[in-house]
This record gives sequence, C-alpha cells and structure tokens, in this order.
Amino acid sequence: MDTLLKTHNKLEFLHPLHGFSERVSNYSNPSRLQNQELRFGPKKSHLKLGRTAFVKASSSALLELVPETKKENLEFELPLYDPSNGLVLDLAVVGGGPAGLAVAQQVSEAGLSVCSIDPSPKLIWPNNYGVWVDEFEAMDLLDCLDTTWSGAVVYIDDQTKKDLGRPYGRVNRKQLKSKMLQRCISNGVKFHQSKVVKVIHEESKSLLICNDGVTIQAAVVLDATGFSRCLVQYDKPYNPGYQVAYGILAEVEEHPFDVDKMVFMDWRDSHLNNNVGLKERNSRIPTFLYAMPFSSSRIFLEETSLVARPGLSFKDIQERMVARLKHLGINVKSIEEDEHCVIPMGGPLPVLPQRVVGIGGTAGMVHPSTGYMVARTLAAAPIVANSIVKYLGSDRSLPGNELSAQVWKDLWPIQRRRQREFFCFGMDILLKLDLEATRRFFDAFFDLEPRYWHGFLSSRLFLPELIFFGLSLFSHASNTSRIEIMAKGTLPLVNMINNLIRDRD
Ligand SMILES: Cc1cc2nc3c(=O)[nH]c(=O)nc-3n(C[C@H](O)[C@H](O)[C@H](O)COP(=O)(O)OP(=O)(O)OC[C@H]3O[C@@H](n4cnc5c(N)ncnc54)[C@H](O)[C@@H]3O)c2cc1C
Repeated sequence: MDTLLKTHNKLEFLHPLHGFSERVSNYSNPSRLQNQELRFGPKKSHLKLGRTAFVKASSSALLELVPETKKENLEFELPLYDPSNGLVLDLAVVGGGPAGLAVAQQVSEAGLSVCSIDPSPKLIWPNNYGVWVDEFEAMDLLDCLDTTWSGAVVYIDDQTKKDLGRPYGRVNRKQLKSKMLQRCISNGVKFHQSKVVKVIHEESKSLLICNDGVTIQAAVVLDATGFSRCLVQYDKPYNPGYQVAYGILAEVEEHPFDVDKMVFMDWRDSHLNNNVGLKERNSRIPTFLYAMPFSSSRIFLEETSLVARPGLSFKDIQERMVARLKHLGINVKSIEEDEHCVIPMGGPLPVLPQRVVGIGGTAGMVHPSTGYMVARTLAAAPIVANSIVKYLGSDRSLPGNELSAQVWKDLWPIQRRRQREFFCFGMDILLKLDLEATRRFFDAFFDLEPRYWHGFLSSRLFLPELIFFGLSLFSHASNTSRIEIMAKGTLPLVNMINNLIRDRD
C-alpha cells in the first residue's frame, strides 16, 4: 500500500512495492499521481455505471468518468501592481485563498496599501467546502452558501443512525471569492500574478522576490499559502496526521439518502463483506462516506480517512468508495468534478513569533481533530487584520519584528494554543482507534449535549470547558470505550499536559 510522507515543504507519496515516488504540491489536482496509481489498480469485480455500461469495478472505472479538471476564472478586471513605482506597501499578502483574501480585504478597508500575490488570482477555488450554517451566520455570510441542509446524519453502523439537528451548508466558493475580490478592488488592493520564491527582511520592510523577477516591498508580509507553507518557518519536526479523501460531484440514477439531510459520516462497512482484504484494512484504518445530496440525482460523495499517519493512499480510498457505491445501489452516470483531498492535521505550530506573519493552513489553523478550517480562519481574519492595522497605523507604528510578534500573539494567544493542544490530543487518540473503537467514540460524541459537540467541532470551547467536555464524553462512553480511551489516551494525555506546562506566555 502507498504511504504518504512529509518532507520539509512538500508531501511525498511513496510506493514501496513499485519504487514509485510522486510529489504532490497541488492537492486539489494531483492528476499525475492519480494516473500513476491507476496503473497499479486492481481489476477484479464489476460496477454498473450509468444506464448502459457495465465496466470494471476498480477505482479506475469510476475515474474514467472524471472530466478534465475545469479551471474556471472569475470575470474580473483586477487592478495590477505596478513594479516600476518602487513604493513600499503596508501589507503584501502571499496567497489568494480564503485566508489571504479575507485579510487583504479587511486591512485595505482601513485605508492601508495592500498587494495580493497569487499565481492564479482569478481562479475559482477548487475545494468543495462544507461548514455548519451557524458558523457562517455568525459572520453574516449566509449569502455565500449555495445549498443548506436542515440537519446532518451519522451512521454509526447498520443498526445505529444519529440525527444531528444542526444545519449544514456548502460554501458557494464562486460567490465568496467574488465578494472578497469585489471588496478588495473597491478598497484599492493591487494584484500581482506570480509565485513568491523568497523573502528578504530589512529592519522596517521586507522584499518579496517573485518567480517573474519582480520584487515587491512591504512593511508587513503575510504568508497565506495554505499547506505549501511558503514563507513561514517551522523549527520542530513536522509530523502531522493526514486526512485523505476522494470526492466526486456526480449525476446518479438514484441514491438512498434524504435530500434534506447531509451525511456527515457513514461508518457502515457491510459493502466490504465480500472483500476480506479491504474489510480487514478498513477495520484497522477506517474510512467513512461524507455526502451532500443536492437532489435525487445529483450528489457529492466523498470517501474519507478522518486521520491517519501515514495517510491512506487514494487507490485504497477509491476502491472502498467503489464498493460502497455499488452496495448502496448508486449508479454513477457522469462526474462533474472530482476532488483529491490531503489535509495535514496537528503537528507543531510555526515558530512563534517570527517576522513573516501567517494565517490559514500555513499557520497551523486546521482543526487537528477534524480537518476543518474555513470558518475558523474567516473568523480569525479580522483579528489578524485589526492587529496589523493597529500596530502599523501612523501614530503607533512598530518596527518589523516587534509588529509581527504582536500580530502572532493576537492570532495565537495562550488560550488558543491550549485549545489546539487539546485538539491535537483528540487527534492522537483518533489515530489509534480501529473501526469498532471509532464507532464507539462517535456514538458517545454525538450523544453529548449540543453545546459540547458543536463547540468542539467549531473551536468554541476553551480549556476549562474542554476538560468538562472530556469528562462528559467519558461519562457517555460505554465501558469498553472508557477502557480504550484510558489505554490509548494515557500517553497522549501525558504529552498534552507536558506541552501545556511548557507553553507559557
Ligand atoms: C480538497 C480539500 C477540501 C477541503 N474541504 C474543507 C471543508 O469542507 N471545510 C473546511 O473547513 N476546510 C476544508 N479544507 C481545509 C482548508 O479549509 C482548505 O485547505 C483551505 O483552502 C485553506 O485555505 P488557505 O487560504 O489557508 O489556503 P489555500 O486555499 O490553499 O490557498 C493558498 C493560495 O496560495 C497560493 N500560493 C501557494 N504558494 C504560493 C506562492 N509561493 N506564492 C504565491 N501564492 C502561492 C495558492 O495558489 C493558493 O491560491 C479542505 C482542504 C482541501 C485540500
């Protein structure tokens, strides 16, 4: 089986059996990896596809329906940065994902000069983002959800289904990006289409060197390059867990799910009854189905490994997905989009503080137990933006290193660092749970009072409440689960306590 390793700045897939090694730097479209993997794909059983065709049930059969990746650009005239004027900007934002654009928009609103640098500034973001509706409501972003479901369901196993009365939504990424770009443009943000390759710091400004030879000078540099972690420095070994998922937005003949509810997790494994090898692999490192039914014939289906170290291979995940869809009677007629998802989870925070400031994936903001990040990052963007504006403002201007230190402090105050430590503890436990133990864990988790599980998933609980959350989870757990949590959680608990003691302001 392939394993997924982390090198300093890139993820690397190793295929020990075939000596195959592939670097993946664009997770949303690792098409070379996918093609390489298909050559090694098993070709055994059969899957019915569409009305007419019966083709092989290997993952490659499903992938034959995958269209060329569509790269759709937004119709915007972006005001371009003029390298000839030699001005020192207030802020240069490297990376135009949700994190970078949110800060660019908000800092420019305060009248500061901002440049956003990205190799594809008009491209609609490729990832299919899901959020809890209350998270977007709190930020007045309900207009940026294209579909909402009145609730979500979790299938623990064939007998147990949980109804979660918490509305869920899919982000309208075209609308969200358009809205942010529109505001950036009206606030005077300039855009530069390029990749940053290097940063040089001077006392009161930094120089960003781009791969087109242009140098951009700014008082503050914000790294928002997601998981490529372009400029932000780390000084500890990088050892995250990996969420790996393969998703398709598909037209199907029919599917068995209620269109009013999204499927948050389906841990059923009866689709693997006829495949001893897959069933055994799934019981050791389980995957679940995440599904967003848009209508009776259009659905987003994603087979997901919640967290594993090393991460599961796409080939393995696709095989499980094919078996599941067949078992559920889901005949795929066509695929609109597919998504290769690799999310590093947990691991160390960047060096705090450091001259370059960061936000989003590059700054350790992914929830270490869930892989979610969009809502938390959009909520944190005003904190980073206000901090930059406050310390860069004319009367309170601080020199480079001191200013960055203040911004990092506001982004990662002690209570947030402690919260993240607790979430990493959660991830360390999840990493050790097999299918049965995972089921028992989520059975107890979703039985908690909503304020606990909502708060945990949406990063709203802080340390004292997290301790009550942990005790409550323990009291809801079955006796078997309690023994498991104690056996598998003791070492991570000791590590967490040590880290909490070591980390002081
Ligand atoms: C497939 C997938 C699905 C996900 N789904 C969800 C979800 O449903 N819900 C959720 O909460 N989270 C989700 N996440 C996790 C996380 O929210 C996303 O990864 C999110 O896109 C991170 O936002 P970001 O702005 O930090 O980085 P990104 O969105 O990755 O944006 C980084 C930008 O930086 C640019 N860039 C990179 N290097 C350079 C450079 N050297 N110079 C200039 N620009 C550069 C890139 O081109 C890119 O535009 C998902 C992640 C993936 C990969």
